[in-house]
Amino acid sequence: MENWATGIFTSVSGGLGAGLESVTELGVLTVHLHAPTTDFRTPAKTAEIKALFASAGVAITVVFVGFEDDDYATVERVAESVGLVPPDRRQARLKETLAIADFASELGVDAIGMHLGFVSHDDPGQYSQIVEVTRSVCDHCLRNGQRFHLETGQETADELLAFIGAVERENLAVNFDPANMILYGAGDPLEALDKVGAHVKSVHCKDASIARRPGQAWHEDAPLGEGDVNMEAFLRRLDRLGYRGPLTIEREYSPDQAGDIKSALTFLEGLRAKILG
Ligand code: MG
Repeated sequence: MENWATGIFTSVSGGLGAGLESVTELGVLTVHLHAPTTDFRTPAKTAEIKALFASAGVAITVVFVGFEDDDYATVERVAESVGLVPPDRRQARLKETLAIADFASELGVDAIGMHLGFVSHDDPGQYSQIVEVTRSVCDHCLRNGQRFHLETGQETADELLAFIGAVERENLAVNFDPANMILYGAGDPLEALDKVGAHVKSVHCKDASIARRPGQAWHEDAPLGEGDVNMEAFLRRLDRLGYRGPLTIEREYSPDQAGDIKSALTFLEGLRAKILG
């Protein structure tokens, strides 16, 4: 795979991200895949998905875990509903996460990623439970020869580093999403990248503006290059860190998602040529 291969988020069962036809139309060769619902994870469907991507020449580099009842409406709802944090849903979601890791393994994908949720750093009881459940995911992934990537943003870089240190698993890594740092108010994305850089194994190229338009939902991002991330500085830092993996565009909420993704690809390819030569 070429250095900084451009990629996009894709989905095989609807939802966020473009479908495989859009992926091939855009000519990108790498994707992050939203884990499909259970009916798409049967052995037959899994084999079918694998064959489809292989024949299109598109490599899936990370499978992202999400849950049907994750709720991103407000930051408060995220804290209550997202990831492996909600105690009443944790065991069922752990089971589903491990099943998705196995699905990814069948596809030949060596990493899964997810928003773990808001881990409370002031509640030692809850903290140790989340550390434990994260170890369970890591240990399962390790048996599959996979890494587990934590999506950034729902904590500061220092909190994330402390959490990774507490879990103590070599295959725990970071999917760095600079826009999330802005959207969740979790600190400056570039400073955060400097801190957690050694753990970064995948990235989302996503932008966000600090200032919100009137009525704009908190989680709405900005077209790449038009927000406050400073993508060139972001990529220069990735370069200094020696990161050569894919640059995966994530554009979640836009009236012109396809157009924005196309412009983002051109934008990133320009920066790649400028920085890597
Ligand atoms: Mg992301």
